[in-house]
Amino acid sequence: MGIKTGNFKNLGNSYEEGSNAALLSAIARSAEELTSGKGWPDGVNDLLAALGQATGVSRVWIFQTIKVTDTHITQNYTFEWAAAPRYKQLGMPMFSMFTNKINRPEYRETVQSRLRGEWQKMVIDQLEPGWLKDTLEVQKIKSMLTIPVMVEDNWWGTLGFDDCERAYDWSDVEIALLKTAGYLISNAVLRDRLSAKRRQFSILKELTDSSVWEFDFKTGQIWCSPELLHSVPVPTDNIRFSLHKAMHLIHPDDRRPLISSISRYLKGDRKKVFRFDMRLFTDCGDLRWVELIGNIRSNDSGKPEQLAGILIDIRKRKREEERLRAEAITDPLTGVTNRRLFEHRLQEFIDHSINEGTELSVLFFDIDHFKELNDKYGHQAGDKGLRHLAKICESYLRHNDILARLGGDEFVLLLPKTDPKTASAIGKRLLDAVKSTPFEYDGKIHRMTISIGLASNDGRLTTPARLIERADTALYEAKQRGRNRLETLTGCLLR
Ligand code: GH3
Ligand code: MG
Repeated sequence: MGIKTGNFKNLGNSYEEGSNAALLSAIARSAEELTSGKGWPDGVNDLLAALGQATGVSRVWIFQTIKVTDTHITQNYTFEWAAAPRYKQLGMPMFSMFTNKINRPEYRETVQSRLRGEWQKMVIDQLEPGWLKDTLEVQKIKSMLTIPVMVEDNWWGTLGFDDCERAYDWSDVEIALLKTAGYLISNAVLRDRLSAKRRQFSILKELTDSSVWEFDFKTGQIWCSPELLHSVPVPTDNIRFSLHKAMHLIHPDDRRPLISSISRYLKGDRKKVFRFDMRLFTDCGDLRWVELIGNIRSNDSGKPEQLAGILIDIRKRKREEERLRAEAITDPLTGVTNRRLFEHRLQEFIDHSINEGTELSVLFFDIDHFKELNDKYGHQAGDKGLRHLAKICESYLRHNDILARLGGDEFVLLLPKTDPKTASAIGKRLLDAVKSTPFEYDGKIHRMTISIGLASNDGRLTTPARLIERADTALYEAKQRGRNRLETLTGCLLR
């Protein structure tokens, strides 16, 4: 015997109308479309039509519950199938986004019963005289069944069956089957919500270059979506690892600060958001600056269960911060340290020399007759001369030395762990180098000389201002004594 196959769409169209088998087959036919995720909203319309045809009612409808308060309910008539045009109600202004007062006891009970997820059936003739009976009679309804559609335990809407021809008493089996149809609708709503959320989330991820992560306190496990963990984007699932392994993805210098920052956060105000900048190793071993953002997720009794959030790529921000930082501490013309950073570092070096008992020297120097170069050949020639001088000096720098431009044509070389004799030898070599290294500007060769003032810390000096003042005095001496020379002021002149 051959094997027969088929999809569910054309399954069992031949059942007798109104039978339970026909209803079951109608639900089965719609189920595939509705649960595949393609079913919103077309699948719902198809389901209502299939249910209407199988049950023989006049109208199948869905009211969506928009808002329920103690006193009012707002609903919207969103889906309808009508057996004939005369039964159509969709589009009537009275059913579109309408708000009812819940003031009548019979209506209040109806709403509350639906909120509890209960089905309701009524034959209108058998209803007690009153508002509900009147309302349904005006709509020419003879019998009605309603099945609440519950989504995530909330009353999302109502699936209803109006019969305008028969005073029909729905059987338990029919109600159970139609409840299943209600579940299919809930499922479609959930799928639609989920795919909307997924779309929103992927837009967010694309715009912010980010990954999502979660740390579970109970298991000590972390998962993270792959975006920022890969150097080149690869479509993979979330990556799971232990806390220990996660730590190895973080730059060693950032691990301890991260742990202390998290423990401070856990002890502090947990309503705030946790933020931390750190460097992360990608799968290729590249380092990437990221910002870890997260907060605590607690269970219903307030016990913290997870720390979760996002990782944002902050490479651009870090580059910009680095640029601004460099700009704040360097001289834009020559690229050497500026006065602000020099003064800061000088204090550090003096403290260090006093603590360690090491000597510290500074060479103050200034270009001789620099004004003439500017006046004769222009400011640009002067600028080139300043850059030329900085370059020569840089070639004399040892590991911890600092070269700074203090302003104008005035520079300083800060020489830690250097006695006056060594500093003087360095200074003299510098004098010779500057004198013997001309530079070219606008087709002409220019030569410069400098004068240098040397001051050293002999253990009694305590402030940067005093050391600078002494070096300045020595420089003045060098200028006075004919320029292109070095003069020294040692500790003996301390006032
Ligand atoms: P001295 O030998 O006594 O030092 O004589 P000097 O002509 O070099 O005199 P001084 O050091 O007082 O003059 C510094 C000059 O440096 C004054 C100013 O025109 C020039 N100057 C200051 N800043 C700049 C700059 O950024 N670029 C250029 N091209 N010149 C500058
Ligand atoms: Mg000068």
